Amino acid sequence: MKTMLNGATFSYWERKHFFDSCDAIVIGAGIVGYSTALHFKRSNPNAKVLILERGLLPSGASSKNAGFACFGSPTELADDLQRFDVTTVWDTVALRLEGLRYLEEIIGGKNMDLQTNGSWDLIRKDENDIQREILEQLPDFNAALEKISGEKNVYSWDDQVNAKFGFQGVSGGFNNRLEGQIDTSKMNAVYYQRVIDAGISVLFGVSANTITSGVNEVVVDTNLGEIKAGKVAICTNGFAKQFLPEDDIAPARAQVLITNPIKSLPFEGTFHYQKGYYYFRNINGRVLLGGGRNLDFEGETTTDIATSDQIQSALHALLEEVILPETPFTIEHTWAGVMGVGDTKKPIVKELHHHVFCGVRLGGMGVAIGSLVGKQVAQMME
Ligand SMILES: Cc1cc2nc3c(=O)[nH]c(=O)nc-3n(C[C@H](O)[C@H](O)[C@H](O)COP(=O)(O)OP(=O)(O)OC[C@H]3O[C@@H](n4cnc5c(N)ncnc54)[C@H](O)[C@@H]3O)c2cc1C
Repeated sequence: MKTMLNGATFSYWERKHFFDSCDAIVIGAGIVGYSTALHFKRSNPNAKVLILERGLLPSGASSKNAGFACFGSPTELADDLQRFDVTTVWDTVALRLEGLRYLEEIIGGKNMDLQTNGSWDLIRKDENDIQREILEQLPDFNAALEKISGEKNVYSWDDQVNAKFGFQGVSGGFNNRLEGQIDTSKMNAVYYQRVIDAGISVLFGVSANTITSGVNEVVVDTNLGEIKAGKVAICTNGFAKQFLPEDDIAPARAQVLITNPIKSLPFEGTFHYQKGYYYFRNINGRVLLGGGRNLDFEGETTTDIATSDQIQSALHALLEEVILPETPFTIEHTWAGVMGVGDTKKPIVKELHHHVFCGVRLGGMGVAIGSLVGKQVAQMME
């Protein structure tokens, strides 16, 4: 059996500062982990709170994502309305909108370069049926969104996208004038700073292996040895099966690429393509493009943060054929992140065992809802 913090690696000072008498341990330094720790500390100013992150940097989704500040594009909504009841669909949209406002409140729009340039849900020329169906539903979508946000005519059809943005093979796009984009690295940096400023410790390179809850404390077995705390929050999203073997949660890898800076890139905004299976945006004059999981769902059900030739080739082809058909470009960098998904789009927020809580399965919308989920987890820990 391992003992608390193997051997003599740590000094008295280090033990006292980081490990002794922890009130709460949060596992995972993503948006949810940071938000959980921050909210717990706000309600318990004298508490000792420790975040454990197994990566050298956070290694899930929060620092790998595309930075869309989005809450629902028409093709996704139409799809969801086929699968879920109408209240669930609009409650989810409302939660995302509330979550985005809350993220802005915590981080500050300017601090994360929030730009509300709008989004376009692009419709291909061979998708006439989809275009017609959604156009029919658009007044209902606008009415529902007005009820939630107070904003009129959020969605509209734009048939000028090829002319304005230089795309090819697209008949137009459903514009959402309220969606925006952030600089993901800035959001993470500010979150980290907020956490440190609050007096919370963050240790990178520490992996939680098992969690055992007792009557008064929880023991987290890590690669450093055992660390004890009054309460533990699991915020490991796509990696959470480890601690929630019975729950409906699976990893879903998502791959991304970024181009070289393109002279006079003709668009600013975020774009969804093929019911959101692909997504792209401008960032610092470059195109950031992700998606393609639908080409190999089985292969992408993995926690391995690697890219695959099949999906990267599809992304490359999409750039050449649709997004930048007339513009030479190079791919400067590719990467992947891991999301947590299940049969529904609702996150799992619950008390798992005595004194052990979780906020996981954030799907592809964690930028929007992650901060609120963290707040909920912290409230449960009270
Ligand atoms: C490529 C990509 C693009 C995306 N684009 C968008 C977007 O544009 N807009 C949007 O809203 N959402 C997007 N998402 C989804 C969004 O990023 C996630 O929903 C959100 O970041 C989840 O945050 P989290 O804190 O729950 O999880 P994560 O950020 O995954 O954090 C979990 C952390 O737990 C750590 N961890 C795991 N296991 C252990 C362990 N045993 N011990 C210690 N640490 C552990 C991991 O290393 C990780 O850092 C995207 C995701 C990806 C991958």
